[in-house]
Amino acid sequence: MRINRALRFGVGAIALALAVSACGGGDDKSGLENAKDGKLTVGIKFDQPGLGLRNKDGSFSGFDVEVAKYVGEKLGVKPENIEFKEAPSAQRETLIENGQVDFVVATYSINDKRKEKVDFAGPYFVAGQSLLVKADNTDITGAESLTGNKKLCSVKGSTPAQNVKDKYAKDVQLQEFDTYSLCVEALRNGSVDAVTTDDIILAGFAAQSPGQLKVVGKPFTTENYGIGVKKGDTEIRGQINDAIEAMIADGSWTKAFTSTVGSSGYPVPQPPTVNRY
Ligand code: GLU
Repeated sequence: MRINRALRFGVGAIALALAVSACGGGDDKSGLENAKDGKLTVGIKFDQPGLGLRNKDGSFSGFDVEVAKYVGEKLGVKPENIEFKEAPSAQRETLIENGQVDFVVATYSINDKRKEKVDFAGPYFVAGQSLLVKADNTDITGAESLTGNKKLCSVKGSTPAQNVKDKYAKDVQLQEFDTYSLCVEALRNGSVDAVTTDDIILAGFAAQSPGQLKVVGKPFTTENYGIGVKKGDTEIRGQINDAIEAMIADGSWTKAFTSTVGSSGYPVPQPPTVNRY
């Protein structure tokens, strides 16, 4: 009887422990401890051509992927030992806070609101908010034409969606999805008039369907892309900053940009300067 109870308790405890670890998905180790063990989990986008894309064969491509791999190597982790996890815009802070990823490289703008929850290395790129419309659209030509009852799509938890709410709330109907590929689908089937986010993201989608979609107007914000890390982990932040600087200095940054985003026709810019705050 007593043995039975002990056994039942034991099984229950194991089941509980398994349930807890399965639902958290994270680990207690720091990013650098994981790197020391030879593995890293990195949050990227899965649906943004040229930046972070999961290909049909299960491989990953894009500038963010190349940056993640370069940083990983500098931290002593081989590219094949990086596990890429999808990090949709609205989930990035949570994934970092919960330790479900070691860092995030996902078109992730550095801003003060996010800095309350996470820290950022970088920037490793500077983008600007822009608009994507159907190629035959003539009435949306830039931010100043966001008037009337236009339907505009952006992504939950993103800076462009917030910017639209702040600046154009009365004039446009904002539709928010979880990912930009869903916005692009809505644009194609005519349920929205335009998609707004960073120019570099929109250029990738436009290049995917030549002659059907176009990026219009001048970029109307400044988006400094950072690598998100756990708040207070100054050690990993410093080492990632070193890695970004090395990537720029040895020419790998330009090479990676040219072979990824560059193929969409987006001009290869001067790399930014890392900000050691
Ligand atoms: N860079 C912007 C942001 O971090 C838009 C792109 C995105 O949602 O990933 O919110």
